[in-house]
Amino acid sequence: MTIAVFGSINLDIIAYGGRLPRPGETIHGTSYRLGLGGKGANQAAAVARLGSRAGMIGRTGDDAFAATALDELASYGVDTALVLRDASSATGIALIGVDAKGENAITVIAGANHAVDASDVERARATLSQAKVLLLQLEVPLVASLAAAAIVRSSGGLVILDPAPAPALGLSSETLAAADIVTPNESETATLIGWTPHTPEDGLGAARELRAKGARTAIVKLGATGCAVSSPDGEFCVPAFPVKAIDTVAAGDCFNGGLAHALALGQPLAEAVRFAAACGALATTKPGAAAAAPTAQEVARLLTA
Ligand code: ADP
Repeated sequence: MTIAVFGSINLDIIAYGGRLPRPGETIHGTSYRLGLGGKGANQAAAVARLGSRAGMIGRTGDDAFAATALDELASYGVDTALVLRDASSATGIALIGVDAKGENAITVIAGANHAVDASDVERARATLSQAKVLLLQLEVPLVASLAAAAIVRSSGGLVILDPAPAPALGLSSETLAAADIVTPNESETATLIGWTPHTPEDGLGAARELRAKGARTAIVKLGATGCAVSSPDGEFCVPAFPVKAIDTVAAGDCFNGGLAHALALGQPLAEAVRFAAACGALATTKPGAAAAAPTAQEVARLLTA
């Protein structure tokens, strides 16, 4: 497996309506949609959409929602053989209400994602030791993710950690150093270093601070402001590609999927970050999470436009 993803798998249950219900209230919405979610699954789908071999490692329940989520994941070309259907847990879900203005309210029930442990790492040992790149996020228990990272790094692979959602207490320097690259967005950066970057210059300062805290290479994602990178080889910013954004859900996941794809192909960091930024930008031009991930052809068109 070229790119392994160790992380969360959810089924998103999205209800659209004029407004969000108030506590104690029942309202009629207009439509609903079931779709794949979870940062791990979104990143795996983004990788597969680009044409890299992607393998998902994680857990669902053994229920109808698992079938819906895993069928969609497989439809993008992701190998789901290492996903355990755990009969003692429920598939993770996100209950998402969206009003007419696009404002949302979300309840996540992690379910089987929180049951991920060392046995999932063991089951995937052969795949992890052959992976060129491992993608991690923070929606499954950190200890298991760190064990997966150790196998990949000791076999010469590269580990990319998306510290999302960022824990309120931040991350230890050991955890930051367990990955080759950490990729927080603005709000996750604020949780990790105590202040919010807004401008590209802020982003560089924040990325530098993350390295001082233990990160080897830090990429601070700044939404429509682009991203800022601090690495042992130098610092640089990549501006956002000008696109007509309609839905920014999973832009960061598509960015990380693109980064993994480009680095697995052997691209130097600066080129890979530009590729990732194009993936993030294209993801904002379509609705949905995994469904919004671009193909390599679409990225190539934006990069040469
Ligand atoms: P997250 O989804 O994790 O909050 P961001 O919103 O920072 O992450 O998006 C990740 C990357 O996607 C950004 O660094 C940028 O390169 C790209 N991106 C995000 N929003 C836009 C946008 N509106 N226009 C162009 N590129 C964008």
